[in-house]
Amino acid sequence: SAQDRVFNFAAGPATLPENVLRKAESELYNWRGAGMSVMEMSHRGKEFLSIIQKAESDLRKLLDISEDYAVLFLQGGATTQFAGIPLNICKPEDPVDYIVTGSWGDKAFKEATKYCKPKVIWSGKSEKYTAIPSFDELDQNPNARYLHICANETIHGVEFKDYPTPKNKDALLIADMSSNFCSKPVDVSKFGIIYAGAQKNVGPSGVTIVIIRKDLIGNAQEITPVMLDYKIHADNNSLYNTPPCYGIYMCGLVFEDLLAQGGLVEVEKKNMKKAQILYDAIDESKGFYRCPVEKSVRSLMNVPFTLEKSELEGEFVKEAAKENMVQLKGHRSVGGMRASIYNAMPFAGVEKLVAFMKDFQAKHG
Ligand code: PLP
Repeated sequence: SAQDRVFNFAAGPATLPENVLRKAESELYNWRGAGMSVMEMSHRGKEFLSIIQKAESDLRKLLDISEDYAVLFLQGGATTQFAGIPLNICKPEDPVDYIVTGSWGDKAFKEATKYCKPKVIWSGKSEKYTAIPSFDELDQNPNARYLHICANETIHGVEFKDYPTPKNKDALLIADMSSNFCSKPVDVSKFGIIYAGAQKNVGPSGVTIVIIRKDLIGNAQEITPVMLDYKIHADNNSLYNTPPCYGIYMCGLVFEDLLAQGGLVEVEKKNMKKAQILYDAIDESKGFYRCPVEKSVRSLMNVPFTLEKSELEGEFVKEAAKENMVQLKGHRSVGGMRASIYNAMPFAGVEKLVAFMKDFQAKHG
């Protein structure tokens, strides 16, 4: 029952909307009279085709994706796309630019070094990844084939609020949106490629979504594995091999739910409200809690914070868990705490966390 569920602040896999889980449960054994579960269906049967087509068309509605873009449902996580992008977009000698605002952007850059000539044109590492660069200061290579960003750094809680324009007008802006995908409206037409693992905002792990301008498809390097070639997947409507069928079905249910909420404008309003009360609680704690990220680029999705008395952090996490608020420990690379408050985190969950923080401070402050 609902009372059994915790408020799950995990960074991903993460909490999913309760009504989506209930709907999936009600269709688990017998999907809409098909006499079988979605897990048991042929990916080439008419039932699953209707599922994947509906998921794609609902995602197109949500993000207002034009017909100039292909939408691919792939496997391998966003990590696989760290290689897929240079392999599909570059020749081995091509220069490309990376802005590194956290660990994920850094991983993307490192993988690209195997397949093209990437350069880090800005890194926030020396400031412990708490900032986004000002765009006019960027030293972009005029010959760069693309400019890569991580739109929201899940571990460090740093989020682009607007986007840089590549210097070379033929260059592409490419974004890893894994942890803020479908959390707000995005002007897709600004990007050559947007990619995201599903397991934060839109479904279970195992599905990776790639939104790519169609004219970019079909130029993969010869060594590209067939599973990484966007042309293969685009020509086969993501059904070249067996796709992650159940995950795609779950993403479809989430897309329906987001549309029913009024679309991403409404979703963003809720996310802003949730983030606001949590950041306010941190900032108004007189230093008891601290968020290291520059205020103007704080993530609406992942809220990292520390305790002035860092020796109490273990107790904070343990006491919160006793009150059914789980997964608040920060990433092992940065320590402290992190509250991931994706679309599906109810307002009540954030309110409960804020109340707990005030109590904890009253006890220990
Ligand atoms: N990029 C970002 C921003 C992430 O948060 C993650 C998280 O896991 C990844 C990439 C890696 O995704 P995956 O585990 O799906 O490969």
